[in-house]
Amino acid sequence: MNFKRPRGTADILPEDQPYWGHVYDVARNVANQFGYRRIDTPIFEDTNLFERGVGNETDIVQKEMYSFEDHGGDSITLRPEGTASVCRAYIENGLHNLPQPVRMYYAAAMFRYERPQAGRVRQFHQFGVEAIGDSSPEVDAEIIELGWKYIADLGIKNVTLRINSLGDSEGREDYISDLEKYFFGVADRLPKIDRDRLNRAPLRVLDSKAKETQALADAAPKSVDYISGEAKEHWDALLVLLDSLEEIYPEFSYKVDHRLVRGLDYYNRTVFEFEPADAGSQGTLIAGGRYDPLMGILGGQETPAIGFAAGLERLILELKKQELPVNSSKGPEIVVVTLGDAGAAGAALASGLRAANVSTVLAPKRSMKAQMRYANSQNAANVVILGDREVATGVASVKSLAEGGGQSEVSLDVTSIAEHVRADGDQ
Ligand code: ATP
Ligand code: MG
Repeated sequence: MNFKRPRGTADILPEDQPYWGHVYDVARNVANQFGYRRIDTPIFEDTNLFERGVGNETDIVQKEMYSFEDHGGDSITLRPEGTASVCRAYIENGLHNLPQPVRMYYAAAMFRYERPQAGRVRQFHQFGVEAIGDSSPEVDAEIIELGWKYIADLGIKNVTLRINSLGDSEGREDYISDLEKYFFGVADRLPKIDRDRLNRAPLRVLDSKAKETQALADAAPKSVDYISGEAKEHWDALLVLLDSLEEIYPEFSYKVDHRLVRGLDYYNRTVFEFEPADAGSQGTLIAGGRYDPLMGILGGQETPAIGFAAGLERLILELKKQELPVNSSKGPEIVVVTLGDAGAAGAALASGLRAANVSTVLAPKRSMKAQMRYANSQNAANVVILGDREVATGVASVKSLAEGGGQSEVSLDVTSIAEHVRADGDQ
């Protein structure tokens, strides 16, 4: 029998874990810096949550969900994104009773049935943040700053930020109708895929990946020309706040992009994306926006909210592409090498060291040379060599594997060995 992992999934092997450790560590740190606290929700939810909360017209609900009936006959879906679940949890747990806004983050696996390619897989991972319960533009700027700081703290360079405003539902109707008029007028120059989009979701024609559509989309009506009242004030205030971020973070900059829309139905007002300057179609690293209508759609009280989701696979691809160093995983402080009949004494020493919180691995019983090779392969800091003579005399050989590291005779007890390697490591 020959088992393979499912298409679009990955085994994250130990050698790749330093990259994952890096994207998770930096996510946690930056979230804490901004006062966002972690939330975990179930990996699967009631299918209806996503049909309602992501939107029936979206690619996600139309063709990307992993849905199944469980043994009780309920329709269950592996979560394709995090926002609907966080909002469900906010409503279900009465988080509107907390002082608002509630700032939360998650880092978790998501599932979408897509055509796998570089940066697009079926089980992928997102770091997402949500600020719920505050409609002010300061929060939009804060979320964008957080996304920026995350990428900067990861060490990734040359990322562009594009923003747009979709306005509120009032202005939207006029806008969409003018947009449709415009695109129908040039429909004979659109590729088939975009003619279909035009009928289903006219906004999505704007972010088409087809060159011929992009040229036409550049001249299309702009949603910011249709926003008015509070939505317009909000947008103007956000631009001022972003301008001041440009002064605080020397490398921060943004571009207003009239073609930027989001694939999820519930966004209003601010939308934004971070992508590498030389991005292809799998380029977007972080995508986010305001989703004030969503709580109401899910049956909660109307509650303004904004957030983003960062794709961790894509960030790791970018880390590798830019050849950024990540801390390689640390090996054990000690590998115990045993010779002759010292096996049992070696095992006891390893246990004693671990009980004293010194990370210790026992080398497999082979030749001295093979055990030393093993210790090196584990990135160990030291080896303790134990043969019949060492056991008899009560003195072990401790050898540092650091460059130019020496060898010393140390009394064969846990305290002496622990002290010796710790003193060595501190130098
Ligand atoms: P795309 O247009 O690339 O399909 P999307 O609009 O579907 O993206 P979102 O739902 O906004 O993506 O998800 C936010 C981020 O999550 C994306 O910008 C990307 O970094 C990441 N992401 C989304 N889908 C995948 C996937 N299938 N594999 C890997 N990362 C993904
Ligand atoms: Mg998608």
